[in-house]
Amino acid sequence: MTDRAARGAAKRCRGAASGRLAGPIRPAVTAQVDTTPEAVDSETLAEIFRRFQAAEPEPRGELHYVNPFTLLVAVVLSAQATDRGVNLATGPLFAVADTPETMLALGEERVRDFVRTIGLFNTKARNVVALSRILVEQHGGEVPASLEALQVLPGVGAKTASVVLNIAFGVPRIAVDTHIFRVSNRIPLFVGATTDKVQAGLEAIVPEDYRLHAHHWLILHGRYTCKARKPECPRCRIADLCRYPSKTVA
Ligand code: SF4
Repeated sequence: MTDRAARGAAKRCRGAASGRLAGPIRPAVTAQVDTTPEAVDSETLAEIFRRFQAAEPEPRGELHYVNPFTLLVAVVLSAQATDRGVNLATGPLFAVADTPETMLALGEERVRDFVRTIGLFNTKARNVVALSRILVEQHGGEVPASLEALQVLPGVGAKTASVVLNIAFGVPRIAVDTHIFRVSNRIPLFVGATTDKVQAGLEAIVPEDYRLHAHHWLILHGRYTCKARKPECPRCRIADLCRYPSKTVA
């Protein structure tokens, strides 16, 4: 998500929180309650993550991969695409190329054939081969466990690098995607207008014991419970702790 898109989403979060409705009428309601709730306190924050952990002690992402390299490729391919769509393409791709060397040998044209069902496949195929080349030539065919080294690879920004560091190397980073951005601003855990600000905020306030898995817990919560259009508040395990003013009812 770009910062511009994130700001739009933040406005929508606040709009939804205030009960703001589309269209030219009903301005009085907006003026009266157009406020974002204060973020929850530290005890509540810890209780929210205690419940996430109790429900799912070892949360997993949904992208398929077999090693840090295939994880990196899968995350690069997943930008503006669904995990399911990426998995459908990467199954056959990783069967023939699961290392930087084999991906490089496969070449851009063949990689493109494997990923052409995914959005932006031309650019992504080019990036996958280019980053494979850099890994072979500069990193001995290994994925580096460093934010600085990862985020200069083609197609790899700070968010992708954070996801790879978190999943492949156990670094407690909380990459913020559209789901985490929404969930954090709704509950609110941390209120921020951009994904970068929310990531920095969450990494500063989420208790250390929960930081490693926070990324997955929040993504899964956003995907399956705190959905964008209609959050499923009646079955939400943290509904009593959440301050979102427009909770849904059964
Ligand atoms: S109560 Fe509703 S808005 Fe709050 S976290 Fe749960 S699903 Fe999201």
